[in-house]
Amino acid sequence: MVYEIKKYGEAVLKEVAKEVELSEFNDEFRKFLDDMVETMYVTDGIGLAAPQIGVSKRIFVCDDGEGVVRKVINPVITPLTTDTQEFEEGCLSVPGIFKKVERPKKIHIKYLNENAEIIEEEVDEFLAVVMQHEFDHLEGILFVERVSPMAKRMIAKKLQIIKKETLKGIE
Ligand SMILES: [Zn+2]
Repeated sequence: MVYEIKKYGEAVLKEVAKEVELSEFNDEFRKFLDDMVETMYVTDGIGLAAPQIGVSKRIFVCDDGEGVVRKVINPVITPLTTDTQEFEEGCLSVPGIFKKVERPKKIHIKYLNENAEIIEEEVDEFLAVVMQHEFDHLEGILFVERVSPMAKRMIAKKLQIIKKETLKGIE
């Protein structure tokens, strides 16, 4: 099943998502995660967070750029370096906008997989960008809030237009 992507302007994208309880891990939940992965690929995304499909829970799925999928639940991210990297980011919820964001280059991430097993990884480069971008969604933060002041001014009008379209669709 492919979910509809919530766009900039929807309240759910601004919420802090809730932790998934251990009692929620069952076949139905795993089917939901598979549907998130399907939705991510159908929409040409490399990452998708649950709030983006209207589910305010601490879950995201991502592709490492080489087809390896991770299903990430209740993640905790710790930067491992003060070095940063700049990447041009985009977001399924903010269509048509691509801007550079500066983020820590290397991170430690601890999360539960679809079977509630604890996974710990050190990731850097591209995957670190994707995971931090998706993690932000769980905190109600969109990448357009992390761009430079100049980029913010450049995209302000475009964001207003997306928001207007989004709100029109909800009414
Ligand atoms: Zn996004």
